[in-house]
Amino acid sequence: MSYSANVALRLEALERRYPQGSGTLDILQGANLVVHEGQSVALVAPSGTGKSTLLHIAGLLEHQDAGEVYLGERPTAGLPDSERTRIRRLDIGFVYQFHHLLPEFSAAENVMLPQMIRGLSKKEASRRAAELLTYLGLGQRLKHRPGELSGGEQQRVAIARAVANAPRVLLADEPTGNLDPRTSAHVFGALSQLVEATGLSAIIATHNLDLAAQMHRRVTLRDGLIVELD
Ligand code: ADP
Ligand code: MG
Repeated sequence: MSYSANVALRLEALERRYPQGSGTLDILQGANLVVHEGQSVALVAPSGTGKSTLLHIAGLLEHQDAGEVYLGERPTAGLPDSERTRIRRLDIGFVYQFHHLLPEFSAAENVMLPQMIRGLSKKEASRRAAELLTYLGLGQRLKHRPGELSGGEQQRVAIARAVANAPRVLLADEPTGNLDPRTSAHVFGALSQLVEATGLSAIIATHNLDLAAQMHRRVTLRDGLIVELD
């Protein structure tokens, strides 16, 4: 397992607080993290410590109160929303605990949509969707709708959709949180394989230490800071 010296994502001195009663809840208090191209990082921390908050800020889905998110060399905090949205579409893939696939569309169509939004032809998008889904072991499920797939299959489609536009960074928020251990292992295997094969960088929040052990690196959140686990 190896990765590049180039930096894909850099989180610098991130702060995030939420109002709570008459005071504030300090969730991120200067969190730093550097993720290299092709590197996978497991984020293992108890519930309520700020994993989702950190991933949402890293994925430009939410604004930090202070600090900076760099994609490659590029700072993003000061960019207009339109540009943040563009970066999010092109450079970032997000996988949630629940798949959020569109129920009326087939597996292949769910993976085609983000590509077509980016401007690819239906034909090109369809070809890449089939290729990705086949790679993830779903070659026989292209026309199935999400409701006709198992939980593990749904998550693999969600992963295919997240990487359909070949993002720089994949952010996954407890992607196997709803799955049984065997299915989790399968989905995680698919994720790691994809990271290895494509040079994608990934931050994956998980409670599963066995799965975290398969990533290049493990970190946790402690008192609002990112701390290396080994
Ligand atoms: P995790 O993903 O590690 O479980 P979260 O990032 O979801 O943690 O949340 C961290 C803490 O911040 C929790 O205590 C949560 O209740 C609080 N929190 C998250 N989002 C908000 C919000 N929009 N407003 C107020 N509090 C929030
Ligand atoms: Mg969470």
